[in-house]
Parts: sequence; C-alpha cells; structure tokens
Amino acid sequence: MSEINNTTIPEIATIEEIKDEIVDVKTFYLSFDERKGGKAPQFKSGQFVMCTVFGAGEFAVSLPPSPENDRFHLTVRKVGKVTDALHELFAGDKVGIRGPFGNGFPFDEIKGKNVIYVAGGIGLIPLRSSIMHVMQNKEKFGRILLFLGARTPRELMYQYNLKDWKTAPGFETYITIDNPVPGWDGENGFVHTLLKKVDVPVKDTIAFVCGPPIMFNAVIKELTGLGISEESIVSTLERHMKCGIGKCQHCSIGRTLVCTDGPVYTYRQIKTLGEQI
Ligand SMILES: Cc1cc2nc3c(=O)[nH]c(=O)nc-3n(C[C@H](O)[C@H](O)[C@H](O)COP(=O)(O)OP(=O)(O)OC[C@H]3O[C@@H](n4cnc5c(N)ncnc54)[C@H](O)[C@@H]3O)c2cc1C
Repeated sequence: MSEINNTTIPEIATIEEIKDEIVDVKTFYLSFDERKGGKAPQFKSGQFVMCTVFGAGEFAVSLPPSPENDRFHLTVRKVGKVTDALHELFAGDKVGIRGPFGNGFPFDEIKGKNVIYVAGGIGLIPLRSSIMHVMQNKEKFGRILLFLGARTPRELMYQYNLKDWKTAPGFETYITIDNPVPGWDGENGFVHTLLKKVDVPVKDTIAFVCGPPIMFNAVIKELTGLGISEESIVSTLERHMKCGIGKCQHCSIGRTLVCTDGPVYTYRQIKTLGEQI
C-alpha cells in the first residue's frame, strides 16, 4: 500500500461487494472514496490494516494480495463486537482504513528456497497473499507446497483459489478434512498428519504456518521432527491491537510489540518470547 500512509486517521472506503466464504466468514470488497479509478494500492504480504466500523470500533485485519485495480478486499470472521457489526453492513456502506502496519513476510531472505505453507481453517487468510506472491514469482523459489486442513469440506476457505491452485503447475496442494463425511473422497485427519504422507523437502526450506493453537503446535512438532529449523518456520501472531503504531502497548508480548515488530515472527523468536500460541 505504498502510496497510502494513513497511520492515524482512517481513510474512508466504500464496501462495493460482499462475498460469503464459509460460515461466519465474509470477504468485503472495498475501494477508497478519494482514489476511485486511481492507481491500484500496493500491499506488502503479511502486513495488516486497522478497519473501523463506525459506531462499533476498530480491529486488525490482514491485507490481501495487491489488487490489479483500485478495489481491494479483506476477509473477516465474525467473532466479537466489531466484526459482528461489520458483518451487518451492506454494499454501499462505509468503513475506515488505517495502515498499512507491521513487518510483512520475509521474501528477499527466502529466494531460492522450497516453500511450505501449512494452514488450518481461516489460517489461510493471512497466508494467501504470501502464496499468491510466491506463485507469481515461481522461478525464484524451489518446490512450493500447500497443506491445508479444515473441519469439513464446507469450511475450506477460498474454494475458488483452491480449484486453481490444485492444477497450477509447480504448486503442490494437499488438503485434508478432520473426519470422513459423505461426498468427500480426499484425505482425512488433522493437517499435520499430511506432512507424514508427503515427501516434504527439508534442506533449504522455509515453512509458513498459520492456524489454531492446537494445530500450530502439532505442525511445529512435525516440521522440527523432519529437521526443519526453528528459524525456518514463520508464523503470524495475533494480539488485540488498538493503535497499530507502537504507542498503546496493547499488543506487547515481553519486549516485542506485535503491531510494529510483527506480526510475522520465526518460531525461534516466538519461543524466545515465551509465547504460547
Ligand atoms: C495482525 C492481525 C491480523 C488479523 N487478520 C485478521 C483477518 O484477516 N481476518 C479476521 O477475521 N481476523 C483477523 N485478525 C483478528 C481480529 O483482529 C480479531 O478477531 C479482533 O479482535 C476482532 O474484533 P471484535 O471486536 O470483532 O472481537 P473481540 O470482541 O475483540 O473478540 C475477539 C475474540 O476475543 C474473545 N474475547 C473478547 N473479549 C474477551 C474477554 N474479555 N476475555 C476473553 N476473551 C474475550 C472473543 O470471544 C473472541 O473470540 C487479525 C488480528 C491481527 C492482530
């Protein structure tokens, strides 16, 4: 979002379209009122913005892949006061956007490496922009693998992307559903079990992992057990954010502020913080 630098005052955006993704998760397509028809905003994968729902409050939300035009989107799960209020809005309603904030994913450092993505449920939201970046620059990376787990087939995020990714050359997609259900003829079991079934590259590999705590811990155990180092495992930390600019300390964990130092950390850093994900 290089040309946008509204870190303290929300910039007004209009909701142009709302897409239902899975239960309680919607994608909101937005455009900034003052830049309609202007240059496409440029986002750094892994960064986030603060989204204001007027009358309800603000919450942190991951940025999507950079759009091709002035329209961008945010995917949001309804979990509390502000996200509930956002889900009540309609196309034509306004929200405020502040940002971008945070460090983003370390693409320069991982050039030439194999890239593994492991996502559980809506953990695919923050990882998707990284996946798209890597796919668009495939020649700069080695093998690219996605391991995705969801409770049921209906809870698989971004089904339209998954359809394309499954057939994309140079991209390996492995999907599992927790328990067998009629009509699903793919893999069953938790996502970490897939890592045992595939010839996963270990040397010169970086792994991006996002998902609920129980999944995260099981995946870390598997990846480190395979020999992938703690410095080569990357994740994003979620903490309650208020200011987004390192002032209010709401998101501090020990010496780090997730809004400015993060949200992207290596597993080695997360362990050093003594953080229980
Ligand atoms: C960097 C970053 C990126 C993010 N990206 C996304 C994204 O792309 N999409 C997305 O949907 N979310 C994202 N989130 C998460 C989102 O910001 C939070 O879910 C946010 O708190 C929602 O605000 P809310 O007011 O709707 O819910 P809140 O009221 O803040 O509630 C959020 C959760 O906290 C629990 N909670 C609330 N109050 C209490 C309490 N007093 N004690 C214990 N638990 C409580 C609720 O039960 C709920 O599970 C991101 C967060 C961060 C930090």
